[in-house]
Amino acid sequence: MIPISATHAANHDMSDTPLRFSLALVEKTGQAPVDVAVPAELFSGALAEGKLAGQVRVEGVISRVDDDAVFEGEASGRAAYECSLCLARVERDWREPVTATVPADRPAIDLFDDVRQAVALSEPMKVFCRTDCRGLCSVCRADRNKTDCGHAVDAPPSSRPRLTPRRHKG
Ligand SMILES: [Zn+2]
Ligand SMILES: [Zn+2]
Repeated sequence: MIPISATHAANHDMSDTPLRFSLALVEKTGQAPVDVAVPAELFSGALAEGKLAGQVRVEGVISRVDDDAVFEGEASGRAAYECSLCLARVERDWREPVTATVPADRPAIDLFDDVRQAVALSEPMKVFCRTDCRGLCSVCRADRNKTDCGHAVDAPPSSRPRLTPRRHKG
């Protein structure tokens, strides 16, 4: 089957996004495959720390399920982060499931918000340039992966017990 393309060019709805798909084919055949790539800039701000690179790809199938049109698929792409320990740039691929449901009598299904959410969920708590990153020296900030500054080595920040923030009570 040939994937359907987004409907935005042929539609005058102000709320249109590049991830809006007509449900006409779904209505006719019961399902329609989706396979599109959109510029990562569309989701700028979705990541708190990282930055998306290149394109975001959305693949899946829109199916008629009872009175609904259901999209099931995934979004994927690439994002750049700073290593949590040494601040080196780290690029990583990401892939997140995406599902969305609208009443089948609607003219279209718009996946933009769902994909944006998937982008946000792809952000890891911590990113490391390598599993044994030695981080920055806590005394002189030298990159310990590159130099031995001679300062005493203590535990990397990631392995220190996390302190619970203290609540101020009136
Ligand atoms: Zn690192
Ligand atoms: Zn040092």
